[in-house]
Amino acid sequence: MSQTKSSHIVWHHHTVTREEREKIAGHKGCTIWLTGLSASGKSTIGNLLDAALAEQGLRSFILDGDNVRHGLNRDLGFSPADRTENIRRIGEVAKLFTEAGVIVITAFISPYRADRDQVRAIMKAGDFLEVLVDAPLAVCEQRDPKGLYKKARAGEVKEFTGISAPYEAPEKPELVLRTGDHSAEECAQQLYDHLVRAGYIASPKA
Ligand code: ADP
Repeated sequence: MSQTKSSHIVWHHHTVTREEREKIAGHKGCTIWLTGLSASGKSTIGNLLDAALAEQGLRSFILDGDNVRHGLNRDLGFSPADRTENIRRIGEVAKLFTEAGVIVITAFISPYRADRDQVRAIMKAGDFLEVLVDAPLAVCEQRDPKGLYKKARAGEVKEFTGISAPYEAPEKPELVLRTGDHSAEECAQQLYDHLVRAGYIASPKA
């Protein structure tokens, strides 16, 4: 499965099991993998969901594009190989948090289907929820909160997803949020409802 550079690596089994951690937390651990074009709404919806979960006393944590690139992945750029390594490392971090019983929300463009499938493959069945944050390119370009589309069109930002680099939409995502048709609040609610329906969390307390 994984290639390790060093030999004599032994997997340690934890004394506190995942089931015990989840019992204490009162919900399951999982990774909600938001994918979509820049400005499709991943961060906005991710943060709204994170806040709604925290308000209910649930343990969630958001892994966000720019933040991860400042630290863990600061040696990586935007070439196809670096994007793949970026997602691989984030996937491994998300897996660890998930095993710790946390509801992980990731907000990365993650444009390559194979990279997302690879993250799904390292996780236990049901731990990985792929959520397509879907808005037409024209809508994203009009929003352009960071002015990146403008720069990409001017050739100042290279390899920009949707303009000069590809985006491969998921074929079978667990959920699709259409942010061109619904408000961010509605989309976050749809995501929350999905978690309840699928048994990851309980219905919210009034
Ligand atoms: P991403 O993380 O996908 O790059 P952001 O969440 O940073 O996207 O930016 C999305 C922008 O679009 C924000 O300025 C947000 O206020 C706006 N927006 C408008 N409608 C929506 C919606 N339905 N869902 C999410 N964001 C929306």
